[in-house]
This record gives sequence, C-alpha cells and structure tokens, in this order.
Amino acid sequence: MSNKDSEEFNSPEANLVKGTELFNNCINLVVGKGDLNADILFVGEAPGKNEDEQGLPFVGAAGKNLDNLLKNVGLSLNEVYITNILKCRPPENRDPLPEEIKANTPWLLKQIEEINPKVVCSLGNYSTKFFLSLGMVDLMKDQPGITSVHGKIKEIEMCGVKFKLIPLFHPAAIIYNRNLESLWLSDMDIVKKQITQKNLF
Ligand code: URA
Repeated sequence: MSNKDSEEFNSPEANLVKGTELFNNCINLVVGKGDLNADILFVGEAPGKNEDEQGLPFVGAAGKNLDNLLKNVGLSLNEVYITNILKCRPPENRDPLPEEIKANTPWLLKQIEEINPKVVCSLGNYSTKFFLSLGMVDLMKDQPGITSVHGKIKEIEMCGVKFKLIPLFHPAAIIYNRNLESLWLSDMDIVKKQITQKNLF
C-alpha cells in the first residue's frame, strides 16, 4: 500500500509536492528516517527504485553502503536523520528539473526547522550545490563540486536555522571508487568533532 494519502503528509509543504508530475508517477513518498532530535542531518539527492518501493531513503545499494560507513564511525540510525532533497523518485532516476527542486524545497526547509541540526552533511554533488546556493536552485550550477569542498566546514543559515554544512561524497560514488572511502571516514571525524563542541555558534 502506498503512503501517498497518509494523514501524516498533509501539510502545506507536502501539498506542494503532491501537485507534481513526480508525485503522480511515484509509488511512495520518501520523507526520511532516523531521529528527529538528531544533531546530524544527512541529505541526499532523490529516492531511487528501492526507496520508492519501500517509502524510506537510502535502503538500496547506496543505503547499505551508508549503513556500513556509519557503523565504521560508530554512529547508528538513532543518532542521525536521513532525508533527500526530493521526496519522490524521478522516473528512470533522471536528474530533477529546477521546478521539481523548487517544489520540494519548502518541505526540506520545514524538516531543517523541525530537526534543528548542528551539522548538515550534504551527500554528493547535487545536494552540496543545493546547500552552497542556500537553496536557490538557479545558483546551483555556479557552485563548486564535491571533490573540492568535501570535508570543508561552511557556516550556513537557512530558514532561521544556523548549522554547519559539511559536504561528503555520496555513498553510491564510494561503491564505484573505493579510494573515496578513507576520505569519507576522515571527513566524518570532522563531523563528529563538530557535534561534540559546545556552543557551536
Ligand atoms: N541516493 C540518494 O541520493 N538518495 C536515496 O535515498 C538513495 C540513493
């Protein structure tokens, strides 16, 4: 059964997504998983096939890799929250259109307000460019790529919430290039150091 008509997703932000073609074509909304009180928020790009079928983010191959990576740095799902910029799977996993990102942005901002994370880890190029442009989709193309900014801390304020952005390589990219794994792990040391710091701002 699909979660698309669930009462839980009956907010003005969710309703913006519900008007889209992506919503009409997906099986489930993929909103997030983990602890809404977490200090660390991971944000990926968009649900894939497995995520669409199960209604949960990062449950396919990339998700299994993310689970392992988190285990390696001693973190569990109880200590983080995981979501995506898009809440519906783009058909054939195509790149989302600017209008689609714009429709999904208010929902992500609402999640950021609710979770109030100390650190946001953008997973991969796409999510990183979204945050570096402060959610201004038209500016995403002007942002630097993940290879030059991974592990670099940037103080950001969006929707009145101040947090540290720490871009990380996407777990799917690490499956194809195992050399990125050690970089991911050392970038996570930076994340962990940040969340143990008192008075972050
Ligand atoms: N890739 C993403 O960016 N998000 C998912 O949920 C799965 C794969």
